[in-house]
Amino acid sequence: DELISQIAAGEVVERPASVVRELVDNALDAGARQVTVKLMAGGVRQILVEDDGCGIPVPELPLALKRHATSKIRSLDDLEHVGTMGFRGEALAAIASVSDMSVASRTPHDAHAHRLDARSGELTPAARAVGTSVEARELFFNTPARRKFLKSDATELAHCLEAVRRHALARPEVGFAVWHEGKLVEQLRPGTPAQRLQDVLGDEFVRTSREVDLQIGPMRVHGRAGLPDAARSRADWQYCYVNGRYVRDKLISHGVRSAYEDVLHGSRQPTYVLFIEIDPERVDVNVHPTKIEVRFRDSREVHQAVRKAVEATLARSRA
Ligand code: ADP
Ligand code: MG
Repeated sequence: DELISQIAAGEVVERPASVVRELVDNALDAGARQVTVKLMAGGVRQILVEDDGCGIPVPELPLALKRHATSKIRSLDDLEHVGTMGFRGEALAAIASVSDMSVASRTPHDAHAHRLDARSGELTPAARAVGTSVEARELFFNTPARRKFLKSDATELAHCLEAVRRHALARPEVGFAVWHEGKLVEQLRPGTPAQRLQDVLGDEFVRTSREVDLQIGPMRVHGRAGLPDAARSRADWQYCYVNGRYVRDKLISHGVRSAYEDVLHGSRQPTYVLFIEIDPERVDVNVHPTKIEVRFRDSREVHQAVRKAVEATLARSRA
């Protein structure tokens, strides 16, 4: 069983940034307005994610660490309409199997918080406001081979920051802060979508991009697309979300590229932040353990919508 959980963990937890991604997912699912991430040594020594969400009731604390225990869906039908980031109940169990993990939580009904140590199973009183803190220390301490694959602290930190930014772009109403080695390295205040875009991607992206917004049938594609002749073009400025979930999808990036094809010269990569809102029944998010891949019921429809939406923006910007 230890072996099976280790293998499963490998699919979810690849590096500190995967832990950050999963823990921030959970914080957002819990309705957090403020999420704080504290890291030591690029997250390898320590990852602490604190939120002001609904908290976990004490009787459910041990269950939260069990594999395939989720409070978010109850039936197969729910799986067709998942409105939460998580639903597989794997993350906490996976993180616990490859680190020293503890969870401290308090609901509005509790007089004080409780901390559960994953390894010992010990439950102790703790002090914190309503919400949850999850701490993972010494990632991969028990799997030295995997620990060896980690890059420098600076690189791991960069991946952790990127994981936070991906969430932050989709949730401008939530505040995010990232600390590394006791220093504040990223602070994103709650604000409007436009403000958040500027805070995350900078003035230059805002200046050199245009709004995308097109409703096609039951689908809406909105966000921003970089102008083809923008001075700087960064391949990593390609953010795509399906119903608020960050995804990597060849079909979508191909749809964008097709829109640019006539106007983009050389090998330049288009830059964009695109949000696709689609009927949840037309997309399957349960394709990959990290949920970064999705499958559409009608991929042509999605490809067309993305292409048309970006084409409309490019046409307007040239007029
Ligand atoms: P999933 O998110 O897929 O349900 P996880 O392993 O990530 O699975 O979390 C297990 C359960 O622990 C969640 O379903 C939720 O009930 C609880 N939980 C985890 N993190 C938090 C949090 N930050 N706030 C409130 N509840 C949480
Ligand atoms: Mg989760």
